[in-house]
Amino acid sequence: MAEQSETADWVRCAGCAALVYGKRFARALQVCPECGHHGRLTAQQRLAQLLDPGTAEPIGAVPAVHDPLRFVDSRTYQDRLDEARADTGLTEAVLCAAGQIEGQPCVAAVMDFRFLGGSLGVAVGALITNAARVALERRAPLVLVTASGGARMQEGVLSLMQMAKTAQAMAELDEAGILTVSVITDPTYGGVAASFATLADVILAEPGARMGFAGPRVIEQTTGEKLPEGFQTAEFLLAHGLVDDVVPRVGLRPVLGRLLGLRPPSRPRPPGDPAAILRAADELVDRDPWQNVRLARHPERPTTLDYIRRLVDDFQELHGDRLTEDCPAIIAGTGHLAGTPVVLIGHHKGGPDLGERRRRRFGMARPSGYRKAARLMRLAAKLRLPVVTLIDTPGANPGPEAEIGGQAAAIAENLRLMARLPVPVVAVLIGEGGSGGALALAVADRVLVSANGIYSVISPEGCAAILWKDPQAAPAAAASLRLHPGDLLSLGVVDGIVPEPPEGAHQDHAAAADLLEAAVTEALHELIPWDPDRLRAARRARFHRYGTDLGPAAADWSQP
Ligand SMILES: [Zn+2]
Repeated sequence: MAEQSETADWVRCAGCAALVYGKRFARALQVCPECGHHGRLTAQQRLAQLLDPGTAEPIGAVPAVHDPLRFVDSRTYQDRLDEARADTGLTEAVLCAAGQIEGQPCVAAVMDFRFLGGSLGVAVGALITNAARVALERRAPLVLVTASGGARMQEGVLSLMQMAKTAQAMAELDEAGILTVSVITDPTYGGVAASFATLADVILAEPGARMGFAGPRVIEQTTGEKLPEGFQTAEFLLAHGLVDDVVPRVGLRPVLGRLLGLRPPSRPRPPGDPAAILRAADELVDRDPWQNVRLARHPERPTTLDYIRRLVDDFQELHGDRLTEDCPAIIAGTGHLAGTPVVLIGHHKGGPDLGERRRRRFGMARPSGYRKAARLMRLAAKLRLPVVTLIDTPGANPGPEAEIGGQAAAIAENLRLMARLPVPVVAVLIGEGGSGGALALAVADRVLVSANGIYSVISPEGCAAILWKDPQAAPAAAASLRLHPGDLLSLGVVDGIVPEPPEGAHQDHAAAADLLEAAVTEALHELIPWDPDRLRAARRARFHRYGTDLGPAAADWSQP
C-alpha cells in the first residue's frame, strides 16, 4: 500500500499503479504526481501537514477500554483493539490537537482509517465531543478530518448513540457561533457521514474522496441497480450540492486559513466627502427608460464575478444547497470587501460569452440557488458577518425543474429569513432587478441601485405582452413601470444610487468597481454599529410602510 511506505525508495500509486520515488511522493503530501490520486494519510501525518509547525498541543484523554458487550467474533474485540493500537501508535481512531492553521487558532480532530476502519465507537464519540468542548471554551473553530467505514459493530447500539452525541456537540457550537469545518477524506461512510461530517458549516472534500451513508456495494446488492460513474465521489457530491468545495490536499491550508480567519467586523473607515451614495436623482444622466433597460442588460456590463474579482480579497466560494445541486446562477462565499469581512451573494449572468451565459442560466436561479443563498445567510448570522448581495437577474427561473423544486417556497423562505437576519444586509441592484427572483436577495437594510440599474415587478416585455397585448410596446411599458433609479428613489424602494462611469459601467469596469466599493463601504460604516434588535426593527419598519402614507412611498412622483 502506497500510504504505508513513504520511506520506501519507490512507491506504487494506489490510483494509477505508477512507481513514484518515495521522497517525491512524501513531498507531494502523498498525492501522486502522475494521476493526482490522494493517498491515505495517518492521523499523525495529517496533523503534521495541517497545523503550523510547533503549534500542536495534544488534547483528549486516553479513553478507557470500551468493550461494553464483551464482544467476540472470530477474535475478541479486546484483541482487535490491542492490535490496532500497536499497528497505528494511536489509542483510538481519532487524534485531537489544538493548534494553528496559517496563524489562525483552531481545534482539530483527525480520524485514521487504519484504526478499525475509522469506526465510530464510544471512545471516538467521546474524543470528538471533547474536542468540541475545547473549541467552545476557547471560542476557536473546530476542524474535523473524517475517514470512516461506519459504526463500530463490536460496541453494538452504543456506537449508534455516538451519532446523536456528536450531533449535540455540533449544535452547541452552532448556538455559540463557533465555526465548524469538515474535511472529507476517502472514505467517509455511515454514522460519521450522518453526524459531524455533514453538520459542519463548511464541508470540504479531497479530490476523489467518497462519502455517503450506505456504501455502493450495499446499494447495488439491495437494489440491483448499476450506479453511475463516480457515484459518491467528491466531484459527484459537489455537483449535487452536498459539499462546499473540492480542495486538493496542497490547497487545504490556505482555504482553511481563510475560513478560520473570519471574524465579526469592526467599523470600516468613515466615508469620504462627497458621499459615495447619491441620495438625489438630479445628478443622474437623464435617460429614456428603455435606454436604461438596455444599459442594465448590456452584455459587457460588469457581473457579480467581475465585482468579486476586483473588490473581494480572499474570496472563498461556497457551493451547493446541501440538497440537490449547486445553482450556477448564484455565486456565494466569504471574503473581505475593502477590509471588511462579509458574506457575499449575487446573481451571475455569465458575462458576454453566450456559452457561459447559458451555463449560468442567464442569471435565473433555481430553488437550489435561493437555498444556497439562505444557507450562506444563516452562516453570516452565526458568525456575525454582514451580508452584501449583488442583484442582477431577469427574474425567477421559468423552467419546470424550478417549479418541481419548490421555487415559490424557496423565494418565500428567503424573504422571511432576511427579514429577521441579526446582521447588516446591504443589497445593490447592479443590473436587472427582476421580480421575486431579485427580491429573494433584496430584503435589506440598505437597498441601492446602480445608476443604470432597474428594479421591476415584471420585465417590460412581459408587461407589454399582458397589458398591451403587444410585445413591441415594451418601451412604453418600461416608462409606465417606473423602473428607473430616479423613480425607485422617489418611491422609497431604494435608499440611494451608486454612480457609474459617464457612459455606463460596461465602459470602465475598474471605475465601476471603485464606485460600488465606496458605496457599500459607506452603507456598512453606517450599519455595522447597529445591534440585532435595531437592525430588525428598522428593516421591519422599512418594508411595513410600502404602499401606506407613512413614508417615502407617499412622495409625489408625478412630478418630472
Ligand atoms: Zn497515480
